[in-house]
Amino acid sequence: MRQVAVAAEVGRAPVGSSKVIFMRILRIEHEGTASYAEAIDEQHVALLSGPPWAGGQPTNVRVPLAGARLLVPVTPSKIVCVGRNYVAHARELGNDVPKEPLLFLKPPSALLAPFGAIVLPPESERVEHEAEIGVVLGTRLTRADPATAANAIFGLTCLNDVTARDLQRTDVQFTRAKSFDTFCPVGPWVETEFALTDLSIVGRVNGEERQRGRSEQMVFSIAQLLSYMSSVMTLEPGDLIATGTPEGVGPLCPGDRVEVEVSGVGVLQNQVVAR
Ligand code: ZN
Repeated sequence: MRQVAVAAEVGRAPVGSSKVIFMRILRIEHEGTASYAEAIDEQHVALLSGPPWAGGQPTNVRVPLAGARLLVPVTPSKIVCVGRNYVAHARELGNDVPKEPLLFLKPPSALLAPFGAIVLPPESERVEHEAEIGVVLGTRLTRADPATAANAIFGLTCLNDVTARDLQRTDVQFTRAKSFDTFCPVGPWVETEFALTDLSIVGRVNGEERQRGRSEQMVFSIAQLLSYMSSVMTLEPGDLIATGTPEGVGPLCPGDRVEVEVSGVGVLQNQVVAR
């Protein structure tokens, strides 16, 4: 298990402090304002003074979780994703496994909170789920080696890289297919106590398992992905990384309930509606 110490300043690695306070970080709406919070127990959270990766500290304000509206647990400057990072998934779409990570971006405007509705856009006839392990950065990374990159991780979350598969094929470029509003459900929280090995990722639609993968099946490990990404663009604290999806992607229809589960993290649940 990895423990995360308090980050003293934005963009600086956690230093000195051995005080471990965060395990599960959420964002909730409290009295009309979005606030970061940490879980105290199964029923209560303490509000934080700011994002924990930017020095946010627990306040004395305690809120019962029941009735609180969960928001997207991160506010990233960018969402960096990788395609074809599981061999069987690359093959199911008729692709080879790339020699280097195949990077693309999703815009922060696509973020969707836990239990929010994925809206199927009229431009697409085939929108698919992609269950993925989400990684949240704790410190800034530029041209970092894999070991440094692994140490910069703040926590893990569940992410659904919703994709308009037909538009991805016709456009070649991924941007439109990956970027519709609501196409990036994330949550329900960020788990800060984790290991990067033996992670399982499961995708379900209406309670039926459609996807199941393990971190050991990744073509490029999480540490390798972060290192590679940081050689292209500086990764900022709070940035969100999608690490690829295992095989079993499939269509979403209005009325569907879709779940992404990452072992040791939790279950992200969303419903699907037509525009
Ligand atoms: Zn994906």
